[in-house]
Amino acid sequence: MHVPRSYIDGESADREWQRLTQAIESLSEEIAENRDEVARQLGPRYAAIFEAHRQMLEDSNLLEELEKCIRQQNFSAEYAVATVFGRYLEFFKQLKGNLLAERAHDIADIQHRLLRHLLGQQPARSVQINKPVLVLAHNLTPSETANLDTRYVLGFVTEIGGPGSHTAIVAEALEIPAVVGAGRMLDRVFPGDLVIVDGTNGEVIIRPDGETLERYRLEGERYRHRLAHLREMRCREAVTRDGTRIYVLGNIEFPHEVDHCLREGADGIGLYRTEFLYLSTDTEPDEERHFQVYRLLAEKMAGRPVVIRTFDLGADKLPYLRDSSSEEKNPFLGLRSIRLSLRHVPVFRRQLRAIVRASAYGDVRVMFPLITTLTELRQAKMLVHDVMEDLAEHGVRFNRQLPIGMMVEVPATVMMIDYFLEEVDFISIGTNDLIQYTLAVDRSNRDVVSLYNASDPAVLRLISSTIQAAHRAGKPVSLCGQMSANVLYTMLLIGLGLRHFSVPPFAISEVKRVCCSVTVAQCEEVARRAMALESAQSIDLFLRGELRKVLPELNLEECCK
Ligand code: PEP
Ligand code: MG
Repeated sequence: MHVPRSYIDGESADREWQRLTQAIESLSEEIAENRDEVARQLGPRYAAIFEAHRQMLEDSNLLEELEKCIRQQNFSAEYAVATVFGRYLEFFKQLKGNLLAERAHDIADIQHRLLRHLLGQQPARSVQINKPVLVLAHNLTPSETANLDTRYVLGFVTEIGGPGSHTAIVAEALEIPAVVGAGRMLDRVFPGDLVIVDGTNGEVIIRPDGETLERYRLEGERYRHRLAHLREMRCREAVTRDGTRIYVLGNIEFPHEVDHCLREGADGIGLYRTEFLYLSTDTEPDEERHFQVYRLLAEKMAGRPVVIRTFDLGADKLPYLRDSSSEEKNPFLGLRSIRLSLRHVPVFRRQLRAIVRASAYGDVRVMFPLITTLTELRQAKMLVHDVMEDLAEHGVRFNRQLPIGMMVEVPATVMMIDYFLEEVDFISIGTNDLIQYTLAVDRSNRDVVSLYNASDPAVLRLISSTIQAAHRAGKPVSLCGQMSANVLYTMLLIGLGLRHFSVPPFAISEVKRVCCSVTVAQCEEVARRAMALESAQSIDLFLRGELRKVLPELNLEECCK
């Protein structure tokens, strides 16, 4: 919506501000209604998206900026909204490739609705659908998506948006095929056209030929079959055919994802990336905010482990806490993660206090990211013990035996792993970083993406020696990088001795399914043969063949990305 520049005279500022606050109030009520409706239909996880919209709308910084535009710059309410939201939009859009860039669509949605309230326009009425259709649109807001009637809407496609957008997240809950952000397509399609929406590969095929149609019919049948199998896995434990228990835990970025983990029957939370708590606000969360979230997770997981990783900020996860004037040339090799935590001890302590306090409410464990030297580990551990002393002095309850672990994601750490293992209770291999630091490939640089490969023999050797060292030391080891979610590697990792996988919630059932289809002896043979190969390509090919042997019905293109 284009909003022309318009100004008010100085005397009308009070009236204009009041007009804007009334519009905000009524929009806030409208969003609350959406939230309650979505909570009834889809559950609290999806309702949280709308609650976040409401909080964004009522954010004190946002209100302050809007008020300044009206009182100090004499902008009309509409022009103030267009200007301030425009600034936020620009900021989020330039975070290309970052999960938060997707939030630009939420901001645009709120801006549009607020302008509508200011202009006194009625909400666009949803079209009544009463026969099976595909919805193709330039954009769908999360609320429009949530209101799609799944009895008739077979799938939908939007031209803009991305896989991490809230529209895509809501589509996942509705369990209908969707491609969000397909690019320009509306000018090539006409009502009544036959269209295939391939949500798995993010493809939209307009007017397919007979052969493609037949291929997709078969694909659809296979997909429904696979879903039925996966649903069955939800309530099963992962036990190999020769009786070895494999633990499949969840990786989460947002607290609400714990519900998805529970639905999938996760054995715990193996990685909670707490930096997202910091990234969702522009002021540091206080100890109480941390504590409420950690306690909730511990209580919801009811005795199952919850590994809380201390903040891993810097590099690709925004330079929070950093002075913006100190541009880093090489942020992945710079002041990130535990290095940043040890530079900002008061901030780090606040988080540690909350984690230690939450340990009274479940099986909470603390884990440090990117540990490279023993000194870093010792300093971080000292802070935990210091925090414990403090809390004990004040009579606060916590678990004295709180397990302390670290991530293994730097080759130097693997070289020294025996020493580290003497000083921690558990370790978790972070392959996302381990791969980039081993192969000297920036994980976020598209130009070198083909070099970033978990199958690389050098990476596999580092993983193997870490697992072996952990077994020698009698300490639990898990793998929480994306690699563990890729079922191509499940047999290999079991064969290398891994018994704890930590994967995003959507991958839990698939990994469990592979675990239940193999024997440890078979996996050990796969590992032995894979480790004798000398290139990533030959290892990849070999693993594909082995997986196909145990699960011939698996679509490798779909599962092994
Ligand atoms: C990893 O590096 O594998 C990991 C799990 O941490 P992150 O992806 O958050 O850096
Ligand atoms: Mg990492």
